[in-house]
Amino acid sequence: MDVFSSPAFDEHEQVLFFYDRPSGLRAIVALHDTTLGPAIGGCRFWPYASEVEALTDVLRLSKGMTYKAAMADLPFGGGKSVIIGDPRSARSEALFRAFGRAIHSLAGAYYTGEDVGTRPHDMDWAGQETPYVLGRSQGGGGDPSPVTAQGVLLGIRAAVRHRFGRDELQGVRVAIQGTGHVGSNLATLLAAEGAQLILADIDAERAARKAKELGARQVGCDKILAVEAEVLAPCALGGVINDRTLPKLSCDIVAGAANNQLLEPRHGVALHARGILYAPDYVTNGGGLINIAQELRPGGYDRARALAQVATIETTLAEIFERSERENRPTHEIADQVADERIRAARRANAVAYPRVGAAVEQAAAG
Ligand code: NAD
Repeated sequence: MDVFSSPAFDEHEQVLFFYDRPSGLRAIVALHDTTLGPAIGGCRFWPYASEVEALTDVLRLSKGMTYKAAMADLPFGGGKSVIIGDPRSARSEALFRAFGRAIHSLAGAYYTGEDVGTRPHDMDWAGQETPYVLGRSQGGGGDPSPVTAQGVLLGIRAAVRHRFGRDELQGVRVAIQGTGHVGSNLATLLAAEGAQLILADIDAERAARKAKELGARQVGCDKILAVEAEVLAPCALGGVINDRTLPKLSCDIVAGAANNQLLEPRHGVALHARGILYAPDYVTNGGGLINIAQELRPGGYDRARALAQVATIETTLAEIFERSERENRPTHEIADQVADERIRAARRANAVAYPRVGAAVEQAAAG
C-alpha cells in the first residue's frame, strides 16, 4: 500500500499503523499538520472494504481537521484516526483500551474523540489508558451535534444574507439530506425560524418522524438533491457534490454539516460557475470541533463559551463570501487560502520563537 504516493497524501507529518493481537485492533492514525498545536480529530470505526480505503479516509479527514481548526481560530492542528472493523460486531473494551494505548504512544501530539461509529462510552474505555481522549460520557462537551447544528444554522444565515440580502429565514426552503444527529437538530432550529423544510434519509422512518414532528415535507433520497429550494444542506455523507449530482442541483446555496462535500476541488469550481453559493464544509461544520476543544481550555468545558465561539462561524463565512465575490473565485479556494495563510504565519512565528533545533548547541560549541 502506497502512502506517500496516495492521491490523498498532502505532506502529512505522520501516518501510523497500529495492530494489537489480543483485541484484533487494526487502526491508522494520521497527523496532518501540528503547526498550530497538537492535532485533534475523532476516531472513525468503519468496516472499510480495503486498507487503501481506510488510509484514503484518514488522510483526507485529518487534512480537513487542520483546515477546520485553522478557520475556527483554534490553537490545534489536524489529525484523525480510523479503526478498521464493523462496530456492530467488533466493539469491545479490549479493542478501545488497545486503541487508547496506541494514542498514548503519541505522547499528546494527538487528541482523539468520537466520530462515525464510535460513542462516548468507547472514549471512556480508551481514556483508561491515556489522558489524550476528548468527548467522554462524563464531564466533557457531550454530544457535539447540537452545537454543530447551531453552527450550520449560522452558516445558512450568512449565505442567505449574502445571496438574498435578507436576515430572517422565514419561508426560505431548505432541503436537508440526512436527518441523523446533526440533520435533525438543524431541522428543529430551522423550523423555529420559520424555514420550509424538505427532508430525506435512507432511514425513511427517521425522516418521516422528523417531518411529522415539524410539519415538514419528506421526499425520497433519490429526489432530495434535485428538489427546488433556496438551500441544500448536505448532512449525510461526503462527496455529495460530484459530476453525477451537479447537473441535478436546483438550489442557490449549498450549506450543510457533511465533511468533504466536494468530491474533488473542481466540483467547487463548477458550483461557482453555476452561481451556486457554497459554504465551505469545514468552516460551516466547525461547531463540533469548537465544542470539544473547549475541554482543553483552562477551567474545562463550558457550553456558553463554546456557543459564543461558534457564533464566529457566521462572520467568517460572510468574509469568505465577500472575498469570493470581489475576486470572482470559488469559496472553497478562498477558505483554503485563508487557512493556509494562518498556518504559514504560525510557522514563521514558531521559527522565530524556537530557533532551529541544534542552534543552541552549535552556539555553545563555538563559544
Ligand atoms: P449521523 O450518522 O447521525 O447521520 C447521518 C444520517 O444520514 C443518517 O441518518 C443516515 O441514515 C443518513 N444518510 C446516509 N446516507 C444518506 C443518503 N445517501 N441520503 C440520505 N440520508 C443518508 O451523522 P451526523 O453526526 O449527523 O453527521 C452528519 C455529517 O456531518 C457527517 O458527514 C459527519 O461527518 C458530519 N459532521 C458531524 C459533526 C457532529 O457534530 N456530529 C460535526 C462535523 C461534521
